[in-house]
Amino acid sequence: MCNMIIVSFFFFDAFFLNFFFSFLMKRRRGIKTTVTAYTRVEENPGDFRVDNGILFCNFCDHSVEWTRKSTVDDHLKSITHTNKKSLHENKQRRLQQTLTSSFSSFESKKIIIHDLVEAFAIADIPLEKVNSLLGFFKKHCKEGGAIPQAATLCQSYVPQVFSVHLESLKTLFYQKPVAIIMDETTDACQRSVVNTLFTYRKDTKLVSVDFLLRVNNVTMGQTLISILPKYDVPITSPRLFLSDSAAYMKKCYKDVLHPLMPQLIHIPYCAHILNLIG
Ligand SMILES: [Zn+2]
Repeated sequence: MCNMIIVSFFFFDAFFLNFFFSFLMKRRRGIKTTVTAYTRVEENPGDFRVDNGILFCNFCDHSVEWTRKSTVDDHLKSITHTNKKSLHENKQRRLQQTLTSSFSSFESKKIIIHDLVEAFAIADIPLEKVNSLLGFFKKHCKEGGAIPQAATLCQSYVPQVFSVHLESLKTLFYQKPVAIIMDETTDACQRSVVNTLFTYRKDTKLVSVDFLLRVNNVTMGQTLISILPKYDVPITSPRLFLSDSAAYMKKCYKDVLHPLMPQLIHIPYCAHILNLIG
């Protein structure tokens, strides 16, 4: 009876061990079958690629046997591979440096041209004059050869300089209690031009140049009312309105501006009166 129990335990142990080892073997076989060429690519990012199920080294440009990890590792450690990889990396670094320096050179040229257009605008010099200065710029100025003809400057750079200037004006007068100066004149083509200036503390800037078909109290008032929102100046903010003593400007203040802006004070400036006396 005792012997039978011992034999039973022996068979039970043998069965259990057999089951356990076969489970382990299956697991090992299972892991082995999930390894693909793509596994090696994931294990070594940047070193390999898969083409038609074949593992290729990106630097040596030939196939590598992928089923055994040790074969792949040996290839990565080989002198041929490390030399080719470092050669490739050096080439990439040089290319990156070249691109960076080209980009910075391009950017510095853009800044020079932008500043040139801005300087001409501030000095009130027509951009056409640039064409006769190109030779001088090329001979004596660094990056002077990069300055284009006036037509290109007008087309490509003036809008950019203008928008930067406009933004700076908007910042300057944003929701400020500005004083407004308005006057009308005629240009070389006998068109009526209305210039509007804003003043806040020590800053007086031309904020709008408008060409009007008819100049009267209504059109002048409409022009000013349309300018204020462009600079985010609320209708309750302006304090002072300076104009000449023309009858239509007095009427503009009395009939159009004062009803909308009761806080506004009108001062007909004396320069105009003195001019009339003179
Ligand atoms: Zn290689």
